[in-house]
Amino acid sequence: MPSYKAPVADTLFLLNDVFDYQRFSNLPGFADASPDVLEAVLSEGAKIAEEELQPLNRTGDLEGCVRHADGSVTTPKGFKEAYKTYAEGGWVGLACDPAYGGQGLPHFVATICSEFADSANVAFAMYPGLTQGAIAALQAHGDDAQKQRYLPKMTAGQWTGTMNLTEPQCGTDLGLIKTRAAPQADGSYAITGQKIFISAGEHDLTENIVHLVLARIEGAPAGVKGISLFVVPKILVREDGSLGERNGVSCGSIEHKMGIHGNSTCVLNYDGAKGWLIGGADRGLNAMFVMMNEARLGVAVQGLALSEVAYQNAAAYAKDRLQGRSLSGAKEPSKPADPILVHPDVRRMLMEIRAFNEAARAFVLWTALASDEARRSPDPAARLAADDRLGLLTPVLKGVLTDVGFANAVKAQQVFGGHGYIGEWGMEQFVRDARIAMIYEGANGIQALDLVGRKLPKDSGRAVTAFFSEISGFIVENKDDVGLAPYLAPLKASIGHLQQATMWLMKNAPAAPDNAGAASNDYMHLFGLIALGYMWARIVKAVLTRKAQGNSNGQLDAKLTLAKFFNERMLPETGAHLARLSAGAATIMELPAAGF
Ligand SMILES: Cc1cc2nc3c(=O)[nH]c(=O)nc-3n(C[C@H](O)[C@H](O)[C@H](O)COP(=O)(O)OP(=O)(O)OC[C@H]3O[C@@H](n4cnc5c(N)ncnc54)[C@H](O)[C@@H]3O)c2cc1C
Repeated sequence: MPSYKAPVADTLFLLNDVFDYQRFSNLPGFADASPDVLEAVLSEGAKIAEEELQPLNRTGDLEGCVRHADGSVTTPKGFKEAYKTYAEGGWVGLACDPAYGGQGLPHFVATICSEFADSANVAFAMYPGLTQGAIAALQAHGDDAQKQRYLPKMTAGQWTGTMNLTEPQCGTDLGLIKTRAAPQADGSYAITGQKIFISAGEHDLTENIVHLVLARIEGAPAGVKGISLFVVPKILVREDGSLGERNGVSCGSIEHKMGIHGNSTCVLNYDGAKGWLIGGADRGLNAMFVMMNEARLGVAVQGLALSEVAYQNAAAYAKDRLQGRSLSGAKEPSKPADPILVHPDVRRMLMEIRAFNEAARAFVLWTALASDEARRSPDPAARLAADDRLGLLTPVLKGVLTDVGFANAVKAQQVFGGHGYIGEWGMEQFVRDARIAMIYEGANGIQALDLVGRKLPKDSGRAVTAFFSEISGFIVENKDDVGLAPYLAPLKASIGHLQQATMWLMKNAPAAPDNAGAASNDYMHLFGLIALGYMWARIVKAVLTRKAQGNSNGQLDAKLTLAKFFNERMLPETGAHLARLSAGAATIMELPAAGF
């Protein structure tokens, strides 16, 4: 059976020493997240993940969700009780608006707790995770009456939320949505159509489910310009807030899928269901983007979380499993063989995962802090700069953390040899569960296109210019630091590759857009490596500062080794990405369709 220990100390080190999060203490909610409160919240979040959620991970996978003849869905044993504990503990509304019962803590605190929950049980964590996204969309675009009606119950976790975009003929291309919305005399709309693959679409955890549904109002323009967003509760809510009749939405079936079995993935049939417009007619994508962006960061965290739990179990196994002898002579001669941790190739796999995880966690926190600043800073210039960074980094985080998160789950499985392929060790579940994160919330190919097609050129490249300036500024600022210098030199060389790649795109994509499409995956991963390299540089600086203050320990030394490993063995991939993307689209586009 796999185990999990939430990385509380590592996270606190990042927040306090690397990012000095208290410099944001003028932002609303930050005063409530003083270092002792933060540590207490993280420790509690770790406890609920380790003690309540993790024990249900394997049983939830084996049992899955069951749909009954009446369309109701039962979640795996223990989920309902665990959800009650989770909701009553205030975890759903941790960073939500106090006006609706939330605790108003910074967004980064909720992000950390979601990493812990995802590592422990990602299928479970999706129920509150989607609710948080739906709350954000309603908060940003709902009217006052809608907010009063839905937000208090959702914030308290008494009702969950879903997002309904996908239809059988409509996945990535939302312009193909067919679900219809017919205006009614009472100001509501009758929603008719079928949505597929709806996560948490039906379940037994709460008394009501609030669906946010994209549909087309009769007579609306074709394509994405004619899409509106509606709030459609499973059970209608009376004026006094009590629950009334069942609405015309039902679960037609649940999918039998590769992983996340504890989360119900539903076909939802809307048969004239009552819905209410959010955010104006034909403005649906604008409103839904709040939820989608929130969900993209949430999915990026899933990638990291599964990489982390897979690493922890693989590292423990490598210390225990005896096979073969060290190439440099027996390390445990009294035993029949050495632990496999002595083998360089096993260490390579473990270090690749961990060197990614620690920097990826920093990358997530850096972005989550930008999200807090973008939403809460009183200074318009700071809000704009943070929003630029958030927009630029969101596709990189989603695409890179989930691609590499999955690859790392496979690597950790490899450390187990054949035992990794066998159910009881739990490693194959991590692989299966990690796979979906590369697909939903915009498949990763779409994240890469979003980065090169929208985020780079936006506002004449303002966000990417600021990103380059920040990293170059850090390198210049620290150029005389002899301790840091060896760690900065590789970053300095690699950022040149990203600059060249960006110039290549500027030169070659406008006249031949396939060049952008063909380069996008490599560009996104090159960008991700630079972001991770920058995170390592900042981590090393914080470690060296601590050591200079006389605070030395094995954990800090390990970070220096991991940074060196990242620079020697992972960062050089930027060169390969640059070479590949500069090859252009010609060969990729050469074969005619009949040639495939
Ligand atoms: C378990 C699960 C849970 C899900 N949960 C939800 C949910 O809660 N709500 C919801 O609305 N949806 C949900 N989805 C749907 C998911 O978001 C879609 O599957 C995803 O958006 C991709 O759509 P598609 O499957 O139709 O693939 P397609 O759009 O058909 O894409 C197929 C492939 O082509 C690529 N592609 C498509 N267009 C382009 C392009 N223009 N340029 C380059 N490449 C392109 C894609 O990247 C992908 O690799 C879920 C799916 C699954 C499997």
